[in-house]
Amino acid sequence: MQSLVCPGDHTVELREKPIPQPGPEDVRIRIQASAVCGSDLHKYRQSAEERATHGYDQLTLGHEGAGIVDAVGPGVLHPKIGDRVVAYHLIGCGACEYCRAGEPGFCRDIEGFNWVRDGVNAEYVVIPARYALPLPDDFDFEDGALFACNVGTAYGAARKAGASGDMTLAVSGLGPVGLYTVMMARAMGAPVIGVDVQSSRIELANSMGIDMTVNPTESDAVAAMRDFGGGDGVHASIDTSGNTQARSAAIDALRPHGRFVEVGLGHETVYALSTPLNMREITLTGSWIFKLYEWEDLLDFVRRHKLPIKSVISHRFPIQDAADAFGLAESGTAGKILFTWPAVTA
Ligand SMILES: [Zn+2]
Ligand SMILES: [Zn+2]
Repeated sequence: MQSLVCPGDHTVELREKPIPQPGPEDVRIRIQASAVCGSDLHKYRQSAEERATHGYDQLTLGHEGAGIVDAVGPGVLHPKIGDRVVAYHLIGCGACEYCRAGEPGFCRDIEGFNWVRDGVNAEYVVIPARYALPLPDDFDFEDGALFACNVGTAYGAARKAGASGDMTLAVSGLGPVGLYTVMMARAMGAPVIGVDVQSSRIELANSMGIDMTVNPTESDAVAAMRDFGGGDGVHASIDTSGNTQARSAAIDALRPHGRFVEVGLGHETVYALSTPLNMREITLTGSWIFKLYEWEDLLDFVRRHKLPIKSVISHRFPIQDAADAFGLAESGTAGKILFTWPAVTA
């Protein structure tokens, strides 16, 4: 089968791999849609040496995928062959306290895609059956790939921020995760100000009806966020960029008792704040993807509010053109980029 790997140094390539066989309690998924994630770009930028040291260059890239179950291993009752599913990508041991609570991201034996095991940018992927989340018929496979990470991450973050009509929210970073966070938070009732240094992303957010935007290269973003929150600052802020300056600004823009949610991956965890946290009694928290037990809530929320999640998709590429897709994603000018796969007809 064709499988996408990332050797590092800004390269991705297709490699032939054997079709994987499901072991006990595993299912095999025939992928029908997958996507490029901002977190894949961190891998793309790593050096070839670093990628090879960990063996990451050999593993299939991608953690946002949906498809059809086409084989099941011994002992699997659900899902069944032919079921439409989304691959949840934080695969835990299934037995520890975190796994039992639906939070496998905290499992000590976590096996992430392109980290410990092969990911979803391949014709087939094998995962434990309990991580194959059911995809209802009113959502297509592209929706499934969006739910797998970006939309789910946005939902988790907006909930962590306490988004509601009783507060104001700032979102820094208006890439796909940021745009989905804006969409979720506004549907929860919160007025949102968005921050990004790319004018194309600001335009995209404006076209989606965001309440206000600010570009820190053109004006004082902290002042704009504070004004948006009524002068003293916003009630909560979410950073999806992972950029130290953006995170610091998002924290500086908070009013007393404000809450900051760290979502974007950053290699530094240093903040450069203009006022101390203690004098404003700020809460800092993190949010990672969504919890297994939030799956149905997430689908229901998108369905109930008729959220146009496909509106964030800007490009679709066949997997053969993955190098072009990553080049475009790296430019920071695109919305969500999806990969298309040969459709399985029933
Ligand atoms: Zn992702
Ligand atoms: Zn576990």
